[in-house]
Amino acid sequence: MILSSELLDRWDRCERRFAFSQQYEPKTISPLGVIYAALEDALVSSEPEQTAKDTTMRIAASKELILSDINKFTTVRHLESLAGIIAVALRGRFGEMTPVGEIDCEDFHWQSALFRAENGALHRIELISHFDDDRLRACAHSWRVIGELAALRQPITLTMVVIGAQRGGRRHSPWSKGLLHPVNKALRFAPRNYKKNGFSESWTQVWREQKGEISTETWLEQMRKDEVLKDLIISRAVAYKPADHRMLSARAEMIAIREKMKSASEAAPMRRSSCDEWGGCPFQPVCYSPTGQGAAEFPQLYSISDTPRGAPAGDKYSNHTSA
Ligand code: SF4
Repeated sequence: MILSSELLDRWDRCERRFAFSQQYEPKTISPLGVIYAALEDALVSSEPEQTAKDTTMRIAASKELILSDINKFTTVRHLESLAGIIAVALRGRFGEMTPVGEIDCEDFHWQSALFRAENGALHRIELISHFDDDRLRACAHSWRVIGELAALRQPITLTMVVIGAQRGGRRHSPWSKGLLHPVNKALRFAPRNYKKNGFSESWTQVWREQKGEISTETWLEQMRKDEVLKDLIISRAVAYKPADHRMLSARAEMIAIREKMKSASEAAPMRRSSCDEWGGCPFQPVCYSPTGQGAAEFPQLYSISDTPRGAPAGDKYSNHTSA
């Protein structure tokens, strides 16, 4: 079995969910899952923005998007625009990025989700709705950081991209939303010098996907000038200490969990506190079926996974339901 932070995370949340996802792939995907998938392709592409758009379109054509408040067309335009500008900004900051991919860790194989930047730093990219100490701690304690550290035995950089809260079907942050001056139509995100706490009502709020005439470069440049970009991409170095007990025990736990994963059961007790965590488990229709239907009886929701049992899961983006 090839371990990954996604698999460990899924196991942590619910054995039953882990077992389902070894056999079934949800046909639905959350908007956040689409952004992660688009970024994964875009960050390693020579044309990050176009690749983000292409991947978003491809996924939207093959999966059922979980929609809220706005229709599919508008959601897709919002997502491709958001993923595109974030990919351009990350590439601008870190240069060409390459995926670390699968590595042999002596005791196990590991599918890393890290990207190596041009300067050699290993980045874990996390999309978050807001940044605060609790969110930072939660990221730092997760398998997405601890698992990568313990597997690679190298320091990593946790890079968090603040994409804003999702309301009315869209992510609200300067990546997606700006204000236009009532007369000269200048784009702004924050009052210059933070003199006052806002703009007058005559400024018009605009969504980036509806303002194709403003190039991505112009939008990003204005974000820089208004000094909002520095609060939207936050990196923290995470040191690796070989003798650190926490690293040694994490590695031992990973090996122990890998053995338990082999006998994961769809009949394991429900982990009810996980069902609605992070936006909701995609297997809720099965567990909460009033007639006790199994996943196979919901062909409209799940397909048989073509990923070999034990390999990195094909539905790895279904974990990404909430930032
Ligand atoms: S719905 Fe709840 S109990 Fe069922 S698989 Fe998901 S997390 Fe586990």
